[in-house]
Amino acid sequence: MTADRLISSPLIQTDTDIAIVGAGLAGTLAACVLGRAGYHVTLIDRHLLFPQEFRVEKIGGDQIEKLRRLGLLDPLSAAAIAFDEIVNIRAGRVLDRTYARHYGILYNDLVAAMRAQLPETVRFVVGQVDGVKTSTSRQRIAILGHGEMTARLLVLATGMGDILGRDLGISRKFIRPRQSLTFGFNLRPAGAKRFKHTALTYYGERVSDGIDHLSLFPASDIIRANLFLFRDHRDPWAKAFRERPKETLTAALPGLVNTFGDFEVIGRIDSWLSDITVAEKCRREGVVLIGDAYQTSCPAAGTGVSRLLTDVERLCTAYVPQWIAEDSMTAAKIATFYDDAQKQEMDERALQLADYRHDLTTETGLKWTTRRQFHFARRRVMHGIDKLSPALADRWRQLKIAT
Ligand SMILES: Cc1cc2nc3c(=O)[nH]c(=O)nc-3n(C[C@H](O)[C@H](O)[C@H](O)COP(=O)(O)OP(=O)(O)OC[C@H]3O[C@@H](n4cnc5c(N)ncnc54)[C@H](O)[C@@H]3O)c2cc1C
Repeated sequence: MTADRLISSPLIQTDTDIAIVGAGLAGTLAACVLGRAGYHVTLIDRHLLFPQEFRVEKIGGDQIEKLRRLGLLDPLSAAAIAFDEIVNIRAGRVLDRTYARHYGILYNDLVAAMRAQLPETVRFVVGQVDGVKTSTSRQRIAILGHGEMTARLLVLATGMGDILGRDLGISRKFIRPRQSLTFGFNLRPAGAKRFKHTALTYYGERVSDGIDHLSLFPASDIIRANLFLFRDHRDPWAKAFRERPKETLTAALPGLVNTFGDFEVIGRIDSWLSDITVAEKCRREGVVLIGDAYQTSCPAAGTGVSRLLTDVERLCTAYVPQWIAEDSMTAAKIATFYDDAQKQEMDERALQLADYRHDLTTETGLKWTTRRQFHFARRRVMHGIDKLSPALADRWRQLKIAT
C-alpha cells in the first residue's frame, strides 16, 4: 500500500462507490476484489497495522481453493509457512494422517499480506468510524477527526465487536453465548533440536476435560499451539492452564510429549472466549454485513474464514456489480445477498459444525458416547486400510460421501 492512498488528514465530503468499514480479513479481501474490478473503494480501519490480536492462524481445506478463486492465494503462500502433513493423535496413538496443503501464519501478518495487495482504486483511511446513516441513494459515514464521507454502498466488515450496526437498528442474536474457549501460545523443543513432526493435532482424551483438540503447527519462525476447548474462561482448569501451561496440558494429554517431543511454553498466552452470534434486522437499505460482523463461528470448527470467504466471493462477484449498475440500494435488493443459497448453506454448515464439535467433545449420553467411539474408531480403521490399500480406502470414502 503506497503512502498517497493512505489518508490521515481531514477528509470532508468525499464520495466513493463503496465504503468498507473494517480492514480485517473480510474487509481487506472485499476491497481487493472490488478494487480489482474497477470500483472506487474507500476502506476504513481504526488501525494502520492490524494489532497482534488472536484469530485464525492456520489456513487449509476449502479456504485455499476459495482464496485461489479470488486471486489471493499467492500473497498468502508468500507470507505463510506451508506444510503438507498433519499427524492426528488420540490417547497417545496415531489416529490417522492428513495429507493436504496448510499454511501457518499469525493473523496480523495475514491481514498485512492482504492489505499489501490493495489496488490503486482503493483508498485506505485510518480512522474510527463513529456514525453511519443509510438510504436508498447515498450512505453517510462519519470518521472521527476526518469529517464525513458518502458512498453508494456501505459494507460493514467490523468483526464480532461491531457496534456501528446499532446506529442502523441492526442487533445481534446470541445463538451460543460463551460457546468455546481458545488458547494460543508458542512452543519450543526442550532437550532436542526439533519436534518429531512438522504439524500435529492431538484430540482430547476425557470428556470431563472439555478439550476438542490441540493443534501444533509452524507459523513465522515459531511453533504455534492453538488449544480449542469447551469451558468457561473463569473455571479452575483455565486458570491452572494460564499459570502452569505445560503441567496442566500434559496432565490432560499424557501422550503429548511422547508423540510430539518435550517442549517449553514460551512468551505470552493468548485466550479468547467465543460467542456464536448472528446479525438480526440487517436487511436494510444501503448497507450489507460480511464476515464476523454478520455471523461469528466456533474456532474449534475452523469455519470462520470459509464463511467470510463465501461472503466476499458471493457479495463482490454476484451482487455488487448488479447493485451498482442500478439506481437505488433498496432493502429488498440487499436482502438478495443474505438469501443467496451458497451463503445460506455455508452459514448453516458453520452453525451445525459448531454444535457437532461441542457435542462430540462434551456430551456424556449414550448417543454421543457411541458416536464419539464410532467417529474415532472409523478414522483408525480407515487409516489401517489406507496403509494396506489406498485405492480401497478411497473407494470406501467415496461410498461414505455418496450415502
Ligand atoms: C481465537 C480465535 C481463533 C480462531 N481460529 C479460527 C480457525 O482456526 N479457523 C477459522 O477458519 N477461523 C478461525 N477463527 C475465526 C476467524 O479468525 C474470524 O472469522 C475472522 O478473523 C473474522 O474476520 P473479520 O474481518 O470479519 O473481522 P476482524 O478481523 O475482527 O476485523 C474487523 C476490523 O474492523 C475494524 N473496526 C471495527 N469497528 C470499527 C470502526 N468503528 N471503525 C473503524 N474500524 C473498525 C477493526 O479494527 C478490525 O480491523 C478464530 C477466531 C478466534 C477469535
